[in-house]
Amino acid sequence: MNIRTRFAPSPTGFLHVGGARTALFCWLHARATGGQFILRIEDTDLERSTPESVQAILDGMAWLGLDYDEGPFYQTDHFDRYAEVIRQLLSQDKAYTCYCSKQRLEDLRERQMKEGIKPRYDGKCSHLEFKPEGIEPVVRFRNPRDGDVVFDDQVRGRISISNNELDDLVIARPDGSPTYNFTVVVDDMDMNITHVIRGDDHINNTPRQINIYRALGAEPPVFAHVPMILGDDGARLSKRHGAVGVMQYRDDGYLPQALLNYLVRLGWSHGDQEVFSIDEMVELFDIKDVNRKAGAFNTDKLDWLNQYYMKGLDPDVVAEHLDWHFDDLGISASEGPPLADLATVQAERVKTLREMAAQSRVFYEGYSEFDPKAAKKHLRPVSAMPLHAIRTKLLTIEDWSAGPLHGAIDGVAAELEVGMGKVAQPLRVALTGCGVSPSIDKTLWLMGRERSLEGIDKALAFIKARVAAQ
Ligand code: GLU
Repeated sequence: MNIRTRFAPSPTGFLHVGGARTALFCWLHARATGGQFILRIEDTDLERSTPESVQAILDGMAWLGLDYDEGPFYQTDHFDRYAEVIRQLLSQDKAYTCYCSKQRLEDLRERQMKEGIKPRYDGKCSHLEFKPEGIEPVVRFRNPRDGDVVFDDQVRGRISISNNELDDLVIARPDGSPTYNFTVVVDDMDMNITHVIRGDDHINNTPRQINIYRALGAEPPVFAHVPMILGDDGARLSKRHGAVGVMQYRDDGYLPQALLNYLVRLGWSHGDQEVFSIDEMVELFDIKDVNRKAGAFNTDKLDWLNQYYMKGLDPDVVAEHLDWHFDDLGISASEGPPLADLATVQAERVKTLREMAAQSRVFYEGYSEFDPKAAKKHLRPVSAMPLHAIRTKLLTIEDWSAGPLHGAIDGVAAELEVGMGKVAQPLRVALTGCGVSPSIDKTLWLMGRERSLEGIDKALAFIKARVAAQ
């Protein structure tokens, strides 16, 4: 069987975390089975759909690396097809026009509520002999009266709903525009979708959709309804819980690999393994292993994974993402250490790429002033000698890498019979203008010889001026 899955977001907001996880599960199921993954933008709600949301979805998918084999398709391109299928259903008497006024439907609803029965359309127009003139009707699907709709949800297990719980669904509005439950079926059928994986907020729609498939003579796909994501307070994840748009995670400095790893574990597990590379996810993922229980979002865990990937991924890959933050913060990386080198040093020290970029400016732009506190403490007359000594040593180092650089500092400290800090701290201030940086050998390595010597000269001049001013 050739497996075909689709992600079908409505472009009415960002691609949020829940949507991204659904997309990931759909993508994984296709990739794990050698099938196809299709992106379909469900933009028929013209009032709520926006081009910005479409873009946010495309950007989010691209950033996460969830590539699709077909699409993006837009439902607004399919209106002719929907109209054709509606005509077909009408001509086969599988649908009918309904002329009931809003008022009548409201009264009906109220009456049913009062009587304690589930509000549903009573079928008044289902067998009209005379069609009223001058009223634009809606089209209703003629839902079977008897029997049950039964399906085996891949996550929830067997679900059975009696047809007399389902009323005759509106499939086209008075202006002819089709409704969600209908368009989704036509598209899934036309696109030969074999597995519909989506949020469990759609589970009540599924029996209705299955009836429409059958009326169209099509075999319904397999369904898998994945549980919602909760916030860390146990309530349904919402904007209240912080960044829920996927691109916000990029902006905040997360790696897509970390977010994907995080998302896959929200509702899916493989033993007690926490870390999964994309390849491993593809290899191990099975939609049947998705948990019925809602997963809760936990920012600490995401932070942990982010640092894990910053440290563990190929530095060139980290550098690609870091580059975006450099651009965004207006730091030019053209002069200074390669971003991959920087990333290997800084990954230990920060939680996000954003912090990494922000704390690395000095390696590219230098500094104009010394931090007064650091200078006061470390650029004192007594520091001049170690700075001179290390300057001389640095001139002769052939292999400019952390090992020999560390050796040079050790050597100076030994020669002058001082602790290593007496060399390293003034040197750090000389290199970075402040008292905080990665380990001194790595700071030297990243700065490069020329910049390091410049910094030392600047520090020596500062000390000289300080002595002169006394
Ligand atoms: N467009 C629907 C939504 O965004 C999803 C439809 C589906 O997956 O069947 O909620």
